[in-house]
Formats: sequence, structure tokens, C-alpha cells
Amino acid sequence: MARPTHLKVVEPGRTGVGPGARYPLLGAVEILPGSVEAALIDSSGRVVARESGSYPADAALSDVTAAIFAAASRCFGQTKPTGIGVAAGGLIDAHAGIISEINDVPALHGFPIAEFLSSKFAVDTFVEHRARLQVLGDRWFGWGRGESSFASVSTGETLGVGILYQGNVLAPNGGRSGAHMTVAVNGETCTCGERGCWKTLATAQWFRRRAAEFGFGRGVTLADVASAAESSDAAAAGLIRQYAENVALGLVNIQQLCAPGLFILHGEAKDGGGVFRTTIEDRLRAVDSWTSSPQPPRVQIAHIADDDVALLGGAALVLSEGLQQ
Ligand SMILES: [Zn+2]
Repeated sequence: MARPTHLKVVEPGRTGVGPGARYPLLGAVEILPGSVEAALIDSSGRVVARESGSYPADAALSDVTAAIFAAASRCFGQTKPTGIGVAAGGLIDAHAGIISEINDVPALHGFPIAEFLSSKFAVDTFVEHRARLQVLGDRWFGWGRGESSFASVSTGETLGVGILYQGNVLAPNGGRSGAHMTVAVNGETCTCGERGCWKTLATAQWFRRRAAEFGFGRGVTLADVASAAESSDAAAAGLIRQYAENVALGLVNIQQLCAPGLFILHGEAKDGGGVFRTTIEDRLRAVDSWTSSPQPPRVQIAHIADDDVALLGGAALVLSEGLQQ
């Protein structure tokens, strides 16, 4: 299904979208390594039905599509959604509705997922990369509601930034999530082979290593350290601030370049407590002091559950695409 590179987001108020209005229920499908989720979501972002299925990681295409169809049928068989938005990782050809490449599910390479679901359920179906869908989910159902520009940030095991800029999700051909921005000269070697990438300093992996150096036991979590920090543990507070400063390193560059103003943090950041959030916000405000923008940069912790992010993004894709037609 042909669509523009930049997803144009239309203001909800212009078409009267709301509970029970033009879009009664939205369909979403999330494809994960070895499993699939399908959900019906209302226009306020509430998940009203959810089904899942699984398949072996090395399954043949017919087994994977059978699992996708089975979960989708249980979810959409009785209640037909107004459209279906599919979230997947890897390389997505959103214009053509194809999963071009998904390393964790090789059987799906080149699979026309949009056409497959569209023909089975007789509704328009769209597919996008899950990182870009996170931005749309925030735009329609999260802190990004009513905003024309903001950054949606993944923290923890996965690090990356998606940007809504003046109503468009930035999705340049070949553009990536920012995890491999260089933030340290002669820094650690990254998984990509370069040195000093943001990813080497601002992920859960970095945090676990540094926590061990600080004397915290194996398996310590950010929530554990935040709790210790609240009990006046100076070393814990220092570690939290260091982690937050490292996350801020990348976000400061985003603010310098695009000035999204609002940064919505998903994932592990929610476990970091107030110190984690305010450390990042203070850093962003310090580098933004020269601008004349009416509002200083803000950092919000996402209130969308991590498990729902991609599905809500899929539902948001249906809303965004539907309003263009
Ligand atoms: Zn790298």
C-alpha cells in the first residue's frame, strides 16, 4: 500500500476522532522473535482484547504465517477492526507493506505482511518499524498528545530515539536510532566496531558493569540502586546521576539539532526515580539556555506499559494513515 516516507500526523480534532466516533476499534499486530501478539485497541488507547501465539525461531514461512493468522483470527474474527497496524523490527518497506529483513525471523524476509492480513480480514493494513511506531503511540496515546514536536526515547537494554518534528515522524532512508552516535573520543569499542558510541555508555549493560565496580552485587537493578539512593546512599546516588548524565549525552545532541523540547523516556528510565529524570532534564536545560523558546526542555517518563508500546503504536498507525485517506 503506497504511503509517504514521512508519516503525516493530522490533528485529532480535525476529524472528530474520539471514543465511539469515527474509529470504533483499532487492530494491532506485533511480530516478535518466536511469538506474535494481536490486540484490539479503542481510540483512547485502551487494550480491549489481546491474543498471542508462538512459533519456533527456525520455523518455515507457512508455520510463522499460520501463527500470525491464528492469533489475529482470535482477536479480529468476531470484532472487525477499522484497520490493522503491524509492528516489526528489522528492515521494513512501509511503502510496499513488506518486511524486507528481520534477522530474528528469517522466514519472513520479503514477506508482504500488509497484503496478507488485509486479504484475510478485509481491512486496510499497514506496517512500520517498531521504533517509529513508538513515536506515533506517544503522539496519540501518551505524553506527546497535542504536541507537534517531541522525542520518544528507548532506554535500558535498547537505546534509541524517534522524533516527531513539526507533525512528521522523521524516517529518513538509511537513518538510524542514534544508538551509534559518537559521544566519547577514544571511548570503548562498540558492537558496531566503532569507538565511543552512545550505546557503550548509556544502556543497561553499561549500568550493570558500572554497578559491579561500585560494589553492588550481581543482578542489581536500576530500581534497587534508586531505592538505595533514596536511603541516602551517596554511592548509589552518584551511580544514578552518572547513568542519567550518559543518557543525556545523546539527548543533548538531539536537542541541539532538532530542539524537540519534550523527551519521553520509555523502558528502564522509569526505575531510576526522580533523580534520574531531573538529572537529564537539568542537563538539557543547561544546553538550551541560549534559545528563546517559550518553554524549557522537559523530560517525562512514559506512562504506556512497555509491553503495550508497539501495539499502541500499531493502533496509532491506523489512525494516522486513516486520516490521510
Ligand atoms: Zn556503535
